[in-house]
Amino acid sequence: MKFGGTSVGSIESLLNLRDIVKAEPEPVVVVVSAMGGFTNQLLAMCEQAQQRDISCLDTLEAARKRHHDAIDGVVIESMREEVHATIDRFIDDSLKPYYLALATNPHMPVKEIERVCDAIVAHGEILSSAIVAGMFDGGVPHLSLNFMRTVPDGAGRVLEWEETGRLVKEEFAAIDGGVHVAQGFISRDKATGDVTNLGRGGSDYTAAILATLLDAEALEIWTDVDGFMTADPRTHPDATVIPQMTYAQAQEMCDAGAKVIYPPTIAPVAMKHIPVWVKNTFNPAAPGTVIID
Ligand code: ADP
Ligand code: ASP
Ligand code: MG
Repeated sequence: MKFGGTSVGSIESLLNLRDIVKAEPEPVVVVVSAMGGFTNQLLAMCEQAQQRDISCLDTLEAARKRHHDAIDGVVIESMREEVHATIDRFIDDSLKPYYLALATNPHMPVKEIERVCDAIVAHGEILSSAIVAGMFDGGVPHLSLNFMRTVPDGAGRVLEWEETGRLVKEEFAAIDGGVHVAQGFISRDKATGDVTNLGRGGSDYTAAILATLLDAEALEIWTDVDGFMTADPRTHPDATVIPQMTYAQAQEMCDAGAKVIYPPTIAPVAMKHIPVWVKNTFNPAAPGTVIID
């Protein structure tokens, strides 16, 4: 079950997420995005820091408060203190030093800037997943940096399936129940161990990779619209939900820019004939879309 940025972006949506997950038979693997808008903020702060604009630290404090407020609203009592401390630790011991390094080192080589910004942007999912894992009694946190591996490919990166497959199977080998929570989007370079990612919108792909490697019964993409629609409802208010599509139809629409699913998501699940559901976190009763053969 993958929950996107808006689905983890507010107390209201996180409480919906909790009810949706609790209604599923276990074991379930929950893959989360960063809280809505936070990935953009993390990247904008990278730009600001490089311009020596230290006001980026004010934005960071606002983000800290947003995460702490969410914890108070949704995390189970017995976990709250620990999750608050986790958020503070990542902000104070990791994000702040990274931003200060960018702001105070005018001679940082471009490669190093890229490396630092990739490490920074991974924090969106690391922080949101700490909150989501803390919502479930006995929720099991997993760190995707430990099992998602990429390799360079031209100007970008691609998943390294072999090593990722081995590590994912190792990580999830023993599970026979429970709510397992992992971060979408984030990974490490296979050779260097540097923090990398699967590209913007990549949390869908993380969930598809895990569904494929773990032979999931289904992949559910929980988002902020009632399903895969005939067009983007933001620009086409008359768009309607497509109840059922084939993998090929979904792939074609994603390639043409239907942002509801990140394009690389479809191929792995199609290969294993795993049904993909697109459902609305804010309207779980709506039937949604199922993508099958
Ligand atoms: P998430 O944060 O859950 O991953 P995204 O913003 O990436 O959500 O994707 C959901 C958004 O995709 C919707 O809010 C909608 O505006 C947009 N969208 C574009 N094309 C489509 C489409 N064909 N069907 C449904 N939503 C679409
Ligand atoms: N947080 C990342 C992004 O905003 C990945 C994702 O949400 O899928 O692109
Ligand atoms: Mg998305």
